[in-house]
Amino acid sequence: MKRILVTGGAGFVGSHLCERLLNEGNEVVCMDNYFTGKKQKIVHLLDNPYFELIRHDVTMPYYIEVDQIYNLACPASPIHYQYNPIKTIKTSVMGAVNMLGLAKRVRAKILQASTSEVYGDPNIHPQTEDYWGHVNPIGVRSCYDEGKRCAESLCINYHAQNNVRIKIIRIFNTYGPKMEPNDGRVVSNFIIQALQNQDITIFGDGTQTRSFQYVTDLVEGMIRMMATGDDFIGPVNIGNPGEFTMLELAQNIIELTNSKSKLVFLPLPSDDPTQRQPDITLAKEKLGGWEPKVPLRDGLIKTIEYFDQLLSE
Ligand code: NAD
Ligand code: UDP
Repeated sequence: MKRILVTGGAGFVGSHLCERLLNEGNEVVCMDNYFTGKKQKIVHLLDNPYFELIRHDVTMPYYIEVDQIYNLACPASPIHYQYNPIKTIKTSVMGAVNMLGLAKRVRAKILQASTSEVYGDPNIHPQTEDYWGHVNPIGVRSCYDEGKRCAESLCINYHAQNNVRIKIIRIFNTYGPKMEPNDGRVVSNFIIQALQNQDITIFGDGTQTRSFQYVTDLVEGMIRMMATGDDFIGPVNIGNPGEFTMLELAQNIIELTNSKSKLVFLPLPSDDPTQRQPDITLAKEKLGGWEPKVPLRDGLIKTIEYFDQLLSE
């Protein structure tokens, strides 16, 4: 049995990860400041004697004896990370310093949840891990993008300077049950709008693309990455290569919900990447043939069920 710290464990991805790690017989310590996370997402785990919940802000140092750390604490949706950009930078950067310092002190392995946003609005397609990215350092997304890029740099340097056992994954757009209905991400927005027969808000002309990964595929990739030998530190892309325009996503959701919603076109937010698709060759090779198993429509059906239930409560 391993003792595992999950920062941001009360969030969308973190709550799925905590559940899976407990199911595999680990002791899980979930740390969260509830900025975008909620106790409701993990309340069903509280009866488990091997689950512990700590209210703590990752920008402050914390000491605990653990074997592994999954560092997920950071708001992920553009609305939430732009709400208090300075705090977003502090969470990414000081959070990484604190968690890497902890990993160094207790000799834990640490996995950093990085993002496809480190590629910015990419000039190469699909994105491979050796691409350095095309990020506007002073744009509205920079608090998140540059914060995550700095966190990657911290990981690499703690590894080089202090032999900390690090793992960096670059997560591409992920969706599924337990997303927050109000967090403004495209999948949750479109599903809620469709279920309520409201206008579907397409930003720009809807031809921009994203690759959507179902959350269980991500969690599987995270666990496999943590299990790799110390010689593989990443970064490695974890995403679903299926690429869709926002118009295609909207059409799929309208069809699956039998919705009467119409499309409305709103201005494109600044620095909104035009395309995004992971090259997952490295993940397949290093993570024992890992690849996403859940096709978009299957994942959307499960996510629609979740939001349908939530809206009827
Ligand atoms: P989320 O907002 O649901 O979860 C983030 C969690 O971190 C929340 O529970 C929040 O309360 C917590 N948190 C925020 N600031 C904190 C702080 N200072 N101290 C302690 N806890 C704090 O987002 P998510 O989608 O679950 O994302 C989890 C991680 O995965 C993030 O690091 C995000 O950058 C990364 N990621 C997610 C996606 C995606 O599509 N979901 C894509 C790329 C990267
Ligand atoms: N988007 C949209 N309508 C919405 C919310 C988002 O058309 O109601 C677009 C957004 O402009 C972006 C894409 O959907 O091009 C994905 O947005 P999201 O915020 O989910 O993730 P990110 O931009 O960080 O990949």
